[in-house]
Amino acid sequence: MDPKQQSLLRKLPGVDHVIELWDKVQPVEDVPRALLVRSIRSTLDRLRTRILAGDEFPDETVLGDDQLLGLAAQAVNKSLEFNLKRVINATGVVVHTNLGRSLLPESVAKHVAEISSRYANLEFDLQKGERGSRYSCVEDILCELSGAEAAMVVNNNAGAVFLSLETLAKGKEVIVSRGELVEIGGSFRIPEVMARSGARLVEIGTTNRTHLADYEGAIRDETALFLKVHTSNYSMVGFTAEVSLKDLVALGAKYHLPVMKDLGSGNFVDFSKYGLIWEPTVQETVAAGAHVVTFSGDKMLGGPQAGIIVGRKDILERIKKNPINRALRIDKMTLAALEATLHLYRDESKAVSTIPTLRMLTLPTKVIANKAKRLLKRFRKLADDRLEAVIINASSRVGGGALPLQELPTSCVGVMIKGLSANRIDRAMREATTPVIGRIENDLFVMDMRTVQDEEINMIASTFKKTFAEA
Ligand SMILES: *Cc1c(COP(=O)(O)O)cnc(C)c1O
Repeated sequence: MDPKQQSLLRKLPGVDHVIELWDKVQPVEDVPRALLVRSIRSTLDRLRTRILAGDEFPDETVLGDDQLLGLAAQAVNKSLEFNLKRVINATGVVVHTNLGRSLLPESVAKHVAEISSRYANLEFDLQKGERGSRYSCVEDILCELSGAEAAMVVNNNAGAVFLSLETLAKGKEVIVSRGELVEIGGSFRIPEVMARSGARLVEIGTTNRTHLADYEGAIRDETALFLKVHTSNYSMVGFTAEVSLKDLVALGAKYHLPVMKDLGSGNFVDFSKYGLIWEPTVQETVAAGAHVVTFSGDKMLGGPQAGIIVGRKDILERIKKNPINRALRIDKMTLAALEATLHLYRDESKAVSTIPTLRMLTLPTKVIANKAKRLLKRFRKLADDRLEAVIINASSRVGGGALPLQELPTSCVGVMIKGLSANRIDRAMREATTPVIGRIENDLFVMDMRTVQDEEINMIASTFKKTFAEA
């Protein structure tokens, strides 16, 4: 070890010394003792590691009392922060699975806060004064919106698919088209979920074409179910053929076989009315005669994470009675959020204007362009010569494995700062108190304004100001 390192190591004080300093100054108040000790120890450990690694300490005052206290305070504040925190989504991906998919409307969040901080009639029938069902609060409205006879909800759609298959086809066969054996991000694959449920997958047709005769030819005594899966995250074009749900239901009726449809991202709104590519709605799927329909609560529906199952009463009765249900049970906060979100769907225009996911998907390009202009103006106000910002026209994505071909014209703001790489900006924005998640493109840090909320425009500008003030 060279003498310089040795001298630095000697200067590094012990934990007790820094605690003593801390107690005199108390840079952060009311810090639990154990957390304080842990933060100071890790601060000193980090310095020791840096010294041993031969890091240059241009100025030995780095190990002075004030500096040590400052570093300890930083470490304490970091530990006091929540790991799960709000971020600004400037990716333009509306249903961003890594960023929490859908945002709840304010009114919905308020209802969740009330239900979760008070007692509620979660499983208590107020009319009868006895134990009630956990799903009853959303069953009626789900039936009202979907036209189905019965409904229930579980933790997420993967759970809904698993539970439905386990109930209806365990130890039996399920016929699925090869063109619909989807994999969703996060290792959800239809063949694997099927295997875990105890149902046997019978693949029919070819990747690009499946005909009614393929379904009919695969029926055996062991057949329990036809399954159709919405190819939500990819699209097949060219020489393709699939059997419509209606035709499959008719075939099922002939052989007394139920038909299940996994919609993936379920929606009650026909998005083609708003200029987007048509996706089958839940109502249409129920009307086409599917016996069981499963979909997510937090994709295009814009509600909380949940798996919704609607369909025929006799089949839903069986699913509700499955003991595995208990392991996939939906929480009261989720139920409160789901019921409040579903209420908004009673008035479609209200749903589209108040549910953030729907609002962002249908946002007029002029409104997005205005947001970009406002951010640009904020940047100009910072009067930082090194910072250059431009407006870029681009495309946002729906995300959540829905509408993969949909291009949503949008406006982005691209930023460069003289002397800093786009990578540096990107990292600094991710590490900010309220992180800003964007992307790097042509050496610019690019923010898509479609998914940036109005009140976040000022926040982004302040974050830039604070982060790069004298960088
Ligand atoms: C997203 C998706 C699922 C899984 O839904 P989660 O709510 O993420 O559990 C299942 N099937 C399809 C077709 C999907 O698109």
